[in-house]
Amino acid sequence: MEEYKKLLFGKSYINGEWFSANTETFEVLNPADNSVVARVSNENAQAVSQAIDAAHAAFKPWSKKSGKERSVIMQRWYALIMENKESIAVIMTLESGKPLQESRGEVDYGAAFIQWFAEEAKRLYGDIIPGYTADRRIMVIKQPIGVVGAITPWNFPLAMITRKVSPALAAGCTVVIRPSEETPLTALAITHLAEKAGFPKGVFNMVVGTDASSMGKILCESSLVSKISFTGSTRVGQILSTQSVSTLKKLSLELGGNAPFIIFEDADIDAAVKGAIAGKFRFSGQTCVCVNRILVHEKIYEIFTDKFVKAVSELKPGNGMQEGINIAPLINKKAMDRVEGFVEDAISKGGKILIGGKRINENFFAPTVIGDATAAMNFAKEEIFGPVAPIFKFSTDEEAINLANDTIYGLASYLYTNDLKRSWKISEALEYGIVGINEGLISSEVAPFGGIKHSGSGREGSKYGIEDYVEIKYICIGNIE
Ligand code: ADP
Repeated sequence: MEEYKKLLFGKSYINGEWFSANTETFEVLNPADNSVVARVSNENAQAVSQAIDAAHAAFKPWSKKSGKERSVIMQRWYALIMENKESIAVIMTLESGKPLQESRGEVDYGAAFIQWFAEEAKRLYGDIIPGYTADRRIMVIKQPIGVVGAITPWNFPLAMITRKVSPALAAGCTVVIRPSEETPLTALAITHLAEKAGFPKGVFNMVVGTDASSMGKILCESSLVSKISFTGSTRVGQILSTQSVSTLKKLSLELGGNAPFIIFEDADIDAAVKGAIAGKFRFSGQTCVCVNRILVHEKIYEIFTDKFVKAVSELKPGNGMQEGINIAPLINKKAMDRVEGFVEDAISKGGKILIGGKRINENFFAPTVIGDATAAMNFAKEEIFGPVAPIFKFSTDEEAINLANDTIYGLASYLYTNDLKRSWKISEALEYGIVGINEGLISSEVAPFGGIKHSGSGREGSKYGIEDYVEIKYICIGNIE
């Protein structure tokens, strides 16, 4: 159990060295009980600036390596993370509150991006296009975009980093990462393993600090950074976009969601209950693809709701280090107040609490189901990010589609039906980047993850994921005859 301590690091990592310009430290708290997990040096924008210089200096030699050479180092990093899976999972649980079983799952999931893109490093194919005159030949090559700034949230302390830096490193980019101040320890543990894997100095930089806005600003405004990849709220995504205007920086943004989970009258109800539990309550609803609104056909509303409430009653909140726990604490007090606010608002507008409805203590909110939800309630428009499941009723396919699309967001959506025609028609009508049909868990390194509308732009994972980190160059050769 104490093995994980070997992977606890308290400093940033810049230009191949553990870096601490600042003697001031900040506490990383365990959201399950507010205990102090560790203290970390609190770096600032100046440290980010040094990391940018290091990444810029390292870019040329790293980009000149063959894809195969980069792949070998990435494969080593992958193997080291998998060898240390249990320790990383423990650190993740301690700093995020994620149940240990889910943390283990995240290590597998997050590391898989490194493995996938290590392979893709060797497959960054270009194109030969038939010439438009007899004496011309046309080639298209892909080249790494340059220094990449990655800003990541606390809800996937490992995977949100690897989803960004793996395609970047594979393509030949160098990276400056600023992880969430809530979960820097997982980030620093995998940084240590990146160092062991042998990335050349300056290729991989991790800067930890609490001053998110000035650290983000310098990444956006630096002319040495070619690209920002961000996962977090739509509000911060908009700030970063505005700050990136002066340098016309390219941005990949994975922002908020408001996932509908539509259950049609012909659906397998037990499968829908299982999918809704997994899709709603994973990490207590604190992910951007978590189910936000359950839309149920009126004919099956009662039977689905009864079964769903029963399944929710079996969920176990608690400290994620204990076996059998599947409901995590909320990340902080702000999150608690927000979730409570959604429930109070729903009650005041006629929502019925079918189970839960209140905090268990200052860290945990009871898994909650709210019946008779309506479009007037705040969670119809906003992301809940907590263990609260509102159930709406609909009577026609058209009504379901309109309800589902009535949001500024467009990340994940889910539908349950056994009707083939309906599954196609609804999937095509949903204004979302991701559709899960008869499935509540949809993330994988092999598939393109990303949203439309206010959920952002860009795709992570899959053969498409590396495209965000390359520039396309057209080369025309003339006078061949
Ligand atoms: P969440 O609700 O998931 O915490 P945020 O968008 O607030 O979403 O945070 C996501 C990441 O963005 C975190 O690492 C956070 O520290 C960082 N962040 C917050 N505000 C800013 C900002 N103004 N500029 C850059 N990064 C920021």
